[in-house]
Amino acid sequence: MQSDGKEDRVLTAEVDRLLARRTRDIRLKGEIERLFRARVWSQTAKIIRAWMIWVALLDVLTLAINMLILPEPVALSMLLPGAIIPPVAIATVFVWRQPRAAWFQAASLIAGVFFILLSVALVGVNAGGEFYERHLNIMLFVAITAIIIFGIPLAWTATIAALALGLYLVFQLQNPAIEFGSAVAATLFFASGIFATVAARRIMTILAQKTFLFELRDRRRVAELAEANDRLLLLARTDPLTGIANRRWMTETLNHLWGNGNGRPDGFAMLMCDIDHFKKLNDHLGHADGDRCLVEVARIIQDNVRRDLDHVARYGGEEFLVLLPEVDEEKAVSVAERIREGVEAAALRNPGSPVSRRVTISIGVALQTPGETGSPEQLQRQADEALYLAKETGRNRVMLHGSEPVVRKSFRSRG
Ligand code: GH3
Ligand code: MG
Ligand code: MG
Repeated sequence: MQSDGKEDRVLTAEVDRLLARRTRDIRLKGEIERLFRARVWSQTAKIIRAWMIWVALLDVLTLAINMLILPEPVALSMLLPGAIIPPVAIATVFVWRQPRAAWFQAASLIAGVFFILLSVALVGVNAGGEFYERHLNIMLFVAITAIIIFGIPLAWTATIAALALGLYLVFQLQNPAIEFGSAVAATLFFASGIFATVAARRIMTILAQKTFLFELRDRRRVAELAEANDRLLLLARTDPLTGIANRRWMTETLNHLWGNGNGRPDGFAMLMCDIDHFKKLNDHLGHADGDRCLVEVARIIQDNVRRDLDHVARYGGEEFLVLLPEVDEEKAVSVAERIREGVEAAALRNPGSPVSRRVTISIGVALQTPGETGSPEQLQRQADEALYLAKETGRNRVMLHGSEPVVRKSFRSRG
């Protein structure tokens, strides 16, 4: 976790450092380069596969047309070298169907392009005459399309360019129709064109990398904003003293439980808890002790409910509201009784309280049965009424809204 954070920071710093440079000086290295490759791989592979397939199709088409329109010996001499292209293209397409080791990708692509270029050159060499130089030119044209459209590392592009020029030079030197000087001059002429193409390809790659760096930075900023937003939201929803949900959060939860606004609430119980004679505690022990008592009572309430299901909030000064989904009357009252006993058992001092020397709590319980009409406000009113009754009848007790027997039970349990 921590090392992730550190890696993120290193990456972030590197992205900022690269973006601060002049565009033409951008060089991706290490992790960022790996991420860039992973990001563009499928697009690059798709382009390479499409290029391979089209080169193979056009080769077959050209060979077929040649059979129709060229003298038969010439067309036949083109067949064998021309037949190299389809299997080479298909093999390269196969390799580039999925990501593989970088060296393997490089080797397969460079070899694939080399054999295709060699094939184009040999078609002309075999046919001879006017076809010799023409096919060498076509070979360079094919190489240039590959150089421009393949978004691959510069070293691979440069290798393809060098191989194309090498083939051109070697075959031109053997061309019986031209002199040595003419062969070299033609090679140099094409070399300058290919060099310019490679340079243009490099700029295209750098621009794509810059776009990727912006993308990384934007993604990070969005994540930072979302994180800050989450923190703010949490702050706005928690009670700073006890760390539990505040009234706002509880209201949201309550509305959510109320059937996500479709007006058909799930069944759940509401416990309105209020510390007895809390004012007296403040008066006798001071506000700081009062605060400590609130923290302690919040903890006791939380310890007595189901962490993953129930909701506890500090609703007001010394008032806590608890929501218990999926419970019946008996269960709700027993949870409330457990909370009441827990507070009493904690033996927090409240010397001024007429009820007990210890801090005690009164709890009003109200139930929402599934699908029953009503409103969160009505349920709250019922819980409040029950709490009021608990206070009226002596405090330190649980009172269920609209149920007499529990009143008596609570009286007994008061001990
Ligand atoms: P009852 O048994 O009827 O509930 O009596 P009570 O004294 O608990 O109720 P009352 O509403 O009269 O007093 C509540 C007191 O809670 C008053 C207020 O000073 C105190 N209080 C509210 N918020 C805080 C707080 O954050 N910290 C402290 N220490 N006291 C608080
Ligand atoms: Mg009180
Ligand atoms: Mg109160």
